[in-house]
Amino acid sequence: MSNVFSGEKCSIDRFVSGFSNNAFLITCMRTGMSVIIDTPADPTELIEAAEITRVEAVLITHGHRDHVEGFGDVSRNFHVPAGIGADDRESLPTSANVVIEVSTGNTIVVGDITLRAMATPGHTPGSTCYLLESPDNSDITHVFTGDTLFPGGPGKSSSHEALNQIVESLKSHIFTLPDSTVVLPGHGEFTTIGDSKREFAVFESKPTDPSLYGDVTWA
Ligand SMILES: [Zn+2]
Repeated sequence: MSNVFSGEKCSIDRFVSGFSNNAFLITCMRTGMSVIIDTPADPTELIEAAEITRVEAVLITHGHRDHVEGFGDVSRNFHVPAGIGADDRESLPTSANVVIEVSTGNTIVVGDITLRAMATPGHTPGSTCYLLESPDNSDITHVFTGDTLFPGGPGKSSSHEALNQIVESLKSHIFTLPDSTVVLPGHGEFTTIGDSKREFAVFESKPTDPSLYGDVTWA
């Protein structure tokens, strides 16, 4: 476990397990209520840390196996509502208490934590990013991007159309956020919206290769 952010209103902790997956625990300082983002395999450390909070919701960035493999373990410990993009719903067990089939503009309010869901299809049809709105009323916000955006490029695409869809999702929802917004992806290290936009500008300035997809980098 490592602390990503500690503010007056909330803290964010990161847990790495499974396929080098990042899971996050966002805790409201005032109420002790919390939200889990993603449930990779072997979520022991995540569950232990979450047990000293009051978990109110589990939000999933997308339905790929490595992000939901620990969902059963997590939901056995915390009988709370889950949220996932409607088009990825089938990757959670039918028994899951999915009350939030999130789409763009849905907000999830837990104590002083407000998360806004943004539908960002492309990596998967139901891929969703969650924006943590202005903790501490400062202008530093965090966005949980799953496998939609990483430092240096978008997540993996399975066709050129899917790549175009990710790019469209990023342009309409993610790159409109303030430059200082910290990007917390589903694997690996973090970046900012400002850095991502600068990297993307290089990509956009080059002619588009119509056969391009897969593990694409902006540079
Ligand atoms: Zn994925």
